[in-house]
Amino acid sequence: MSYEGGCLCGQVRWRAAGEPINVRICHCSLCQRATGGPFFARALFRAEDFSWIGETTSWPTSERIERRSCARCGVPMFSVPNDPPGRIGVSLATLDHPDALAPECHIFVGTKRAWIALDDGVPQYEERPPV
Ligand SMILES: [Zn+2]
Repeated sequence: MSYEGGCLCGQVRWRAAGEPINVRICHCSLCQRATGGPFFARALFRAEDFSWIGETTSWPTSERIERRSCARCGVPMFSVPNDPPGRIGVSLATLDHPDALAPECHIFVGTKRAWIALDDGVPQYEERPPV
């Protein structure tokens, strides 16, 4: 399978040539601030399967993760963890076919917004899921 997507203005386009490592919704406070939304729904791909074109801005939101947004329309696109390296997270909201991938679990629900009710039946973890 392959997946493709892009930002709102079309300047940034991405493609993943394989299946994701995992698909998760993160409710941590950093993801809330970084996306400007109540959570970050993202698929994590192997970097060797992943490519993008277009100009992005980058911002390290922690020692572990750098975020990249479209340099023109500002849509938060990618989260790039460095520990371990070789992976890239991409916002599910930027998929060309938005329901092509579905989240497997919710993480960091200990900091989720109180007005979000989760009833989708997938596992929920207070912080990180068990390895
Ligand atoms: Zn854009």
